[in-house]
Amino acid sequence: MQLYNTLSAKERASLLDQAGEDRLTLSFYQYANIGNPELFRNHLFITWDEMTVLGRIYVAHEGINAQLSVPAKKFQEFKAFLDGVYFLKDVRLNIAIQHDLKSFLKLKVKVRKKIVADGLNDATFDVTNKGIHVNASRFNQLIDDPNTLLVDMRNHYESEIGHFKGAITPDVDTFRDSLDIIEEDLKDHKEDKNLVMYCTGGIRCEKASAYYKHKGFKKVFQLEGGIIEYARQVENQGLENKFIGKNFVFDHRRGERISEDIIACCHQCGQVCDTHVNCANEACHLLFIQCEECSGKLQSCCSEDCLEVIQLPYKEQKKLRSGAHNSNKIFKKGRSEKLKFKQ
Ligand SMILES: [Zn+2]
Ligand SMILES: [Zn+2]
Repeated sequence: MQLYNTLSAKERASLLDQAGEDRLTLSFYQYANIGNPELFRNHLFITWDEMTVLGRIYVAHEGINAQLSVPAKKFQEFKAFLDGVYFLKDVRLNIAIQHDLKSFLKLKVKVRKKIVADGLNDATFDVTNKGIHVNASRFNQLIDDPNTLLVDMRNHYESEIGHFKGAITPDVDTFRDSLDIIEEDLKDHKEDKNLVMYCTGGIRCEKASAYYKHKGFKKVFQLEGGIIEYARQVENQGLENKFIGKNFVFDHRRGERISEDIIACCHQCGQVCDTHVNCANEACHLLFIQCEECSGKLQSCCSEDCLEVIQLPYKEQKKLRSGAHNSNKIFKKGRSEKLKFKQ
């Protein structure tokens, strides 16, 4: 039985082009007790591969976190499958506003220790004692309340291109770092203020809200379904949109535009821009913001150094890549001393 991809990403992209069918980009997560993640993983792969579902899915003992693209005509079948899994029945699906045929090019289902690398020891606090989930309209009311502290639970490269007006946006590389920084900053307001938090699709707030309640915050709220669901409700219900810029997403699209504002700048020349790219030098792969002009000049590289590397014959490049000296940059997302205009 075939349990893994056989097509390369390139082959898949050309197949999708030919098929020309509409696909839905969506995500969902669920904390649940999964006894045998490996078995569940195989079950998902076999079923979804047959439906030509693509995406990146993490399965762990603590649950599932999935980012997917589903052929529109298979959507009912896909939904029926989810409803047949007892802990996924009626799970909230975050469906993207913009659809891209190539948001994902492969189906990858991986077994992990955790569905989000949150760096937390779950045994030290009650993860089920979460904050109050609020919808977009209630969230807007809370933002307007002068007693509210609004906190962005995402990392610096995400809030850089878009966030809620007036939000605290910690300059952090990881979720774990932001927890401590926010707690320290807000420690005098554990009882009197509303701690209102949001993230991309809601999953990070599931843990963060429980963590802050454990740390003594009394009034903790979280945006249900995150920015993705907020944008959908704002559009469907004609609510005021308080989010400015783009919502950073973890698929091929990199960002979903929520408002017309462009709040970031090209990291190389400083002009207004909010397009994330990865450095074309595969050994570098640095995530950064680059305008079209700079992209042309540096052939989508982050620096002159990387531009030099990509001009080398492929064999030479591969040789350079075999050293581990570059791995640091890959994980230090969006940070490099070479980027003059990174704030
Ligand atoms: Zn530029
Ligand atoms: Zn580079």
